[in-house]
Amino acid sequence: MTAVMMNSSSVSLKEVQEFDPKNDSADSLETQTTPTTTSITNEKIIVIGSGPVGMRFVKELLKRQPNAHVQLFGNEPFQPYNRVQLSAFLAGEVSRDEIDLSLPDEELHPNFKFTIATIKEINSEGQYVTDGRGDYYAFDRLVFATGARAHVPNIPGVEQTGVYTFRNLKDTEFLYARVTSARHVVVVGGGLLGLEAARALSRLNTKITLVQQGPRLMNRQLDERAGDMLQQQVEELGIRVITSSGVRSIHSADEVVQGRHSVTGVTTYNGEEIECDTVVLCAGIKPNVELARESKLKVANGIVVNDSLQTSEKNIYAIGECCEHQGETYGLVNPGLEQAAIAADVIAGGHSQYLGSLTISRLKVVGQKVYSMGEIAELSNRPFQSVVAFEDKKEGIYRKFVFYKGKIIGALAYGEWPELTRVQEAFKQGRTIYPWQLITFRLTGRLWVNEQSEDIINWPMESVVCQCNNVSQGELVHALAQGCQNQTELSAETGAGTVCGSCKPLLGQLVEQHSGETAEREKESGWMPVLIGSLIAVILAFLIAFQPEASVSDSVITQGWFEKIWNDGFWKQVTGFTLLGLTVIGLLMSLRKRMNWQWMGKFAYWRTAHTVLGMLCVAMLIFHTGFHLGVNLNQLLMINFLAVIGLGAGAGLVVALSHKLSARHAMTVRKTWTWLHILVTWPLPALLAAHILSVYYF
Ligand SMILES: Cc1cc2nc3c(=O)[nH]c(=O)nc-3n(C[C@H](O)[C@H](O)[C@H](O)COP(=O)(O)OP(=O)(O)OC[C@H]3O[C@@H](n4cnc5c(N)ncnc54)[C@H](O)[C@@H]3O)c2cc1C
Repeated sequence: MTAVMMNSSSVSLKEVQEFDPKNDSADSLETQTTPTTTSITNEKIIVIGSGPVGMRFVKELLKRQPNAHVQLFGNEPFQPYNRVQLSAFLAGEVSRDEIDLSLPDEELHPNFKFTIATIKEINSEGQYVTDGRGDYYAFDRLVFATGARAHVPNIPGVEQTGVYTFRNLKDTEFLYARVTSARHVVVVGGGLLGLEAARALSRLNTKITLVQQGPRLMNRQLDERAGDMLQQQVEELGIRVITSSGVRSIHSADEVVQGRHSVTGVTTYNGEEIECDTVVLCAGIKPNVELARESKLKVANGIVVNDSLQTSEKNIYAIGECCEHQGETYGLVNPGLEQAAIAADVIAGGHSQYLGSLTISRLKVVGQKVYSMGEIAELSNRPFQSVVAFEDKKEGIYRKFVFYKGKIIGALAYGEWPELTRVQEAFKQGRTIYPWQLITFRLTGRLWVNEQSEDIINWPMESVVCQCNNVSQGELVHALAQGCQNQTELSAETGAGTVCGSCKPLLGQLVEQHSGETAEREKESGWMPVLIGSLIAVILAFLIAFQPEASVSDSVITQGWFEKIWNDGFWKQVTGFTLLGLTVIGLLMSLRKRMNWQWMGKFAYWRTAHTVLGMLCVAMLIFHTGFHLGVNLNQLLMINFLAVIGLGAGAGLVVALSHKLSARHAMTVRKTWTWLHILVTWPLPALLAAHILSVYYF
């Protein structure tokens, strides 16, 4: 797993499936690279390849230098188009016009030129390129964005009529025409492309068989379980799936049509003969590196580039599927788009650096949402690595995480994933995932109880910020736009933060981000009694833990009142049952918040009452035990009691003082203490029951 870092900010991840190069919205990228003032207006820049990456590079460069002299070459006989949308086009979901990409505005960028021609030769010393017609074009800087082509496996019979690849618009148009007459299509390859081709081709009730050499569909992105689920979904579309077996040979009829034989069937590795009239090869890609190799640039699997995306020639760059960075070539569009923005910045005089891309796929495969990032399949064996999975069969949901030293190194989800943004964030930033989050995940399929991102500004508009009053992020942003100046006005306007107040740090964060300055955070209502109560509870809990145990006197006459209370059978029962009662009340009190029972009155009062109750509990504990920690079960119960009280008091202190912390910090600390308090409360009822049983029955 690698990460991209540029100008010390990192690339935010864009949805691959939702990528729309038509819309010039490289917004995440815009913020990462610093536009520079260095003028390159007189330099001639040539870009070879008008795929999504070449197009993004041009737009990024012209954004920085609107008058730059840029000439873009594409060798497909069309206006640049969105390759990612080809499967939707084949499936008849979008029209031809809808996949076209718009070229930069000629009036705004008078020095931009798009030429349809194949660049055949590069003279790096003379700094010019030659196209297929023999025309020369001089350059100061050259950018390779030549992408990749379909890999054609070496299968006997692959040259027959009726065998297609699926990479470009021409292929798609051929397939589009073919599908109306085809009776049975065999798709070779069960990766994303093969699946998309199979889905698109099945729309006219053509019989489809998908042959996958790997052990499961999308074997690089999915594990066994997700692969099974996907296969089931694909089969429900009427597509037959064969896994762990490739196509060994393609057969043809004896008769020759237009100088070639037509396909009649295939034989698989496991010996099955399948009759078919069409074969579609979706068996991977090959980077277009021949031109670079002939130009004496360093080439491995792709054109080798450094962190500035320069090739072995300083003024020649390579980006997208044709390039190789630190031994890595990418087969998805997003890394290429990230590289395009960085190369544009570097050429415009910036100092951005490319350190690699995170492989994150957000895909819609055969109508099903599938997310995959980092290491999922073929995991290496490391100490401190763990794998946790969750499945809800009824909802058709499956999620899995791979952790290494408490950080996400791989994640996978089949079906809806509301936490996706936050998971991506945590994955990208290498955030620590705590053990209790794993417990939550195993139980609910979520890592975070409130399903939100830590940075409120990144939340979707419809996400609920104030759970108590159901106030969304959109409403808060609207209120701020309407003129709310601070947190108090925001709360008054929207009602957010007026019940339990746990969203107040988020409101503070939003106000801060809106105003661009650190807002003074509002104090929690009732913060003073909570502060005092919590302090007293902490001191008392501390006393119990460290005060020497009260001694037992030899005679009843010398017994003091304190000893009478903790040592006398009757008073022991009184204090014991009072403690039990207080504990039950304390547990019930938390329902006010968890169930959002607004009819119970102001939450701030209940919180203060909860603090007082904590104080009473710890006092009662002293009367009940006389500072004795006990042994065995009793000792466990005491430790648990002290942990509940100590962590509860800690949570109280954090709540009372959260106005002193930064909004983000306050929220994290509050949540951590509150959840720790709740977690240690879980064993308490069982330990209490065991204690009562042991006293009365044994
Ligand atoms: C059907 C389909 C669906 C896909 N779906 C997804 C998806 O959902 N998500 C995803 O992340 N990726 C997807 N991809 C992959 C994605 O399209 C590629 O990652 C992306 O197109 C790479 O962009 P590129 O500009 O680097 O290369 P390309 O798109 O290959 O563009 C390179 C261009 O350069 C031209 N060229 C090459 N040599 C020369 C030359 N000498 N002179 C002039 N021009 C030249 C080529 O003809 C081509 O037009 C899909 C691909 C296909 C085919």
